[in-house]
Amino acid sequence: MDFRFSPHEQAFKQDVQEFIKKEWPKEPVADTDDMEEESKQSHLRGRAFAKKLAKKGWLAMAWPKQYGGGGASHIEQLIYHEEMSYRGAHIDTPISMGLSWVGPSLLLYGTEEQKKTFIPKILNAEEGFCTFYSEPGAGSDLAAMQTRAVADGDDFVVNGQKIWTTGAHHAEWGWLAARTDTTVPKHKGISMFLVDMKTPGLTVKPLVNMAHVHSFNEDFFDNVRIPKQNVVGELNRGWYLLAVALDFERSGVGTFAGHTRNLEQLLDFARNTKSNGGRLSDNPTLRAKLAELKVEIEAGRFLAYRIAWMQSKGLVPNKEASISKLFGSELGQRLYKAGMEMLGLYGQLDKGSKWAPLKGAIERGYLSSVSATIAAGTSEIQRNIIAQRGLGLPR
Ligand SMILES: Cc1cc2nc3c(=O)[nH]c(=O)nc-3n(C[C@H](O)[C@H](O)[C@H](O)COP(=O)(O)OP(=O)(O)OC[C@H]3O[C@@H](n4cnc5c(N)ncnc54)[C@H](O)[C@@H]3O)c2cc1C
Repeated sequence: MDFRFSPHEQAFKQDVQEFIKKEWPKEPVADTDDMEEESKQSHLRGRAFAKKLAKKGWLAMAWPKQYGGGGASHIEQLIYHEEMSYRGAHIDTPISMGLSWVGPSLLLYGTEEQKKTFIPKILNAEEGFCTFYSEPGAGSDLAAMQTRAVADGDDFVVNGQKIWTTGAHHAEWGWLAARTDTTVPKHKGISMFLVDMKTPGLTVKPLVNMAHVHSFNEDFFDNVRIPKQNVVGELNRGWYLLAVALDFERSGVGTFAGHTRNLEQLLDFARNTKSNGGRLSDNPTLRAKLAELKVEIEAGRFLAYRIAWMQSKGLVPNKEASISKLFGSELGQRLYKAGMEMLGLYGQLDKGSKWAPLKGAIERGYLSSVSATIAAGTSEIQRNIIAQRGLGLPR
């Protein structure tokens, strides 16, 4: 594998850097203790930035050109994601879900009408989606889902509960998996639906995480009517749509780019903070810890680069994506733990406090890093995949 970027890729990297510097707001989202206000502002900022990216032609850069995307190479996608995360820029989650799996699924399995209705909205960042998969009794074993959709005239009527639905409070549409046949093995009776979030009977309730952030929700479906034309793909074959994210960027490079930014902040703090008559950065134990984290982050980056490289060669990464996800999310926990130890008792202060070091970024990250090893497949599930597909161990 060749680690160097080509001159064209270097120039693209420069373009992305300049675009983000110019277009991503420099000032942080207003300091407020109002969690809902913060969530709203962050969403609006991400949506506005997505629209700018759409205008620039970069929002759907991973999509093939014939579908209105940018047709970018996997390496360009990697560069884009790395720069976005390193610089703390982001699009709002409902838009990113539309781009990552709803849109690609519609392109592959949607009706012409569905494509005509939804694809332009996704490409222009006009409307976003949340993902209704998990339920209180179905997460890792997703096929155990119980939410029922029963045909009734021109509609399906949905009853049940979904949970951990990221961005449901900002999304215009839901991408819903529900059981349409209870008489067949569990993987076979699931169908996919597009549900308008304003439909009567659908209630979204906030779930606040331990970082005091409202990002996910629990959702109750009480006789929610979905027109039959909003079924995506073949009835009862929804399970096969769940896996679709095409072979778009899936290296996880953004995680490592975010870790790099945080490590740099910690290094600055160590250099500029007085401790025991010298500087914090004189402490040999701390120096060793920071050096170790740097090595791990660089190793992780190359795990991610390897995936993009494999994709650019037409290979399909599988266990490699699990390795990157597992390593990146667990490394985040080690990084933030080291950060909290380094900042001492002040490190516990939230971003609202004028005494919070690094504006509370490490405290927030420390609390949020816990869920990273659960979201998008837990560490145990990733280890199972690596054991089976990477090491050839029996199921
Ligand atoms: C930040 C965040 C955002 C999320 N966003 C969404 C979203 O937008 N939409 C959505 O539908 N869901 C979302 N989820 C839910 C997420 O997909 C599930 O939490 C995850 O799949 C785990 O399922 P569970 O919580 O039901 O845990 P369980 O599956 O019940 O697992 C409990 C424990 O058992 C372990 N375990 C389970 N099965 C095995 C096994 N076979 N071998 C070994 N260990 C096992 C798990 O690793 C875990 O430690 C989100 C979760 C988080 C944390």
